[in-house]
Amino acid sequence: MRIQDLGDKILKGDRRALARAITLVESSRQDHRAEAAALLDQLRAVGRQAVRVGLSGTPGVGKSTFIEAFGMMLTGQGLRVAVLAVDPSSTRSGGSILGDKTRMERLSRDPNAFIRPSPSQSHLGGVARRTREAVELCEAAGFDVILIETVGVGQSETVVAEMSDLFVLLLAPAGGDELQGVKRGIMEMADIILVNKADGDLKPAATRTCSDYAGALRLLRKRPQDPEGFPKAMMVSAQTEVGLAEAWTEMQALIDWRRENGFWDRRRADQALYWFDQEVRQALLARLETGEAKAAMAELSARVAAGDISPAGAAEAMLREHLRM
Ligand code: GDP
Repeated sequence: MRIQDLGDKILKGDRRALARAITLVESSRQDHRAEAAALLDQLRAVGRQAVRVGLSGTPGVGKSTFIEAFGMMLTGQGLRVAVLAVDPSSTRSGGSILGDKTRMERLSRDPNAFIRPSPSQSHLGGVARRTREAVELCEAAGFDVILIETVGVGQSETVVAEMSDLFVLLLAPAGGDELQGVKRGIMEMADIILVNKADGDLKPAATRTCSDYAGALRLLRKRPQDPEGFPKAMMVSAQTEVGLAEAWTEMQALIDWRRENGFWDRRRADQALYWFDQEVRQALLARLETGEAKAAMAELSARVAAGDISPAGAAEAMLREHLRM
């Protein structure tokens, strides 16, 4: 199929075309990369936008239960929902634990939902690019809300926050009255903290955890992109579906405010710049790992170790002679 035709089908909302296009952007073959770039340019020109919601939480906190219940609520309101994932573990094991359809059985059967597991790639940068491009494809296919899921480990939260319009951190009720070792950097990324499992016996602990986090959020430096009252902590129960509608109302309020005040467009522009910078850096690093440059690095390393040449001198020689910079 011609790329242009594939693009036209995606714009008509053809799910098979969408799935095929995602497979195309996940490929690292040179000719596929060129086709993917042409396709994304064609679709970007149309300029459709969805609400991109990043969602992070440690394993067991209830991400798949939440996405299933939240997604069903949204499709029940007539919205079309796509679920994508950035799974750092897939880079090691080759198998994905996120975005797995069996974890979201009802949602995966919903004709207004589309679920795609994380691509397995050798490094997070590769996963990031593919997921980012899959987000664009889903937007072009007319999805209203795109949920991008990740687990709370390392860099993957940054990756997801940098491709989301708003970032939601899902937490479980804590046993004691201490904050659950959530890194400050991750809290600073959150627009909304949802304390899940606020039901049954866990309700009192959830209430306590929620007010602890509300207090911690108030201590953070105020960001220009936050209206009054944000970032905020709320309680939900993915299981009993309590609080999900309220969470969506808050998300919409935040998004409306950011749209009206220019922060929506600014954030997307900043994100485009972030990814441009990342792509350049990764491409430069990749050049060091291949062919002649790799051999030159090895040779210069040996000379640096032997004291024949200074580290700075070797670096300069590397850049000038082998990378032509
Ligand atoms: P994930 O690993 O973050 O995707 O978490 P899961 O969605 O698989 O949920 C982990 C466990 O927590 C499962 O046993 C769920 O049934 C349970 N769980 C998820 N949401 C809730 C909730 O709102 N309330 C209660 N009580 N349990 C929940």
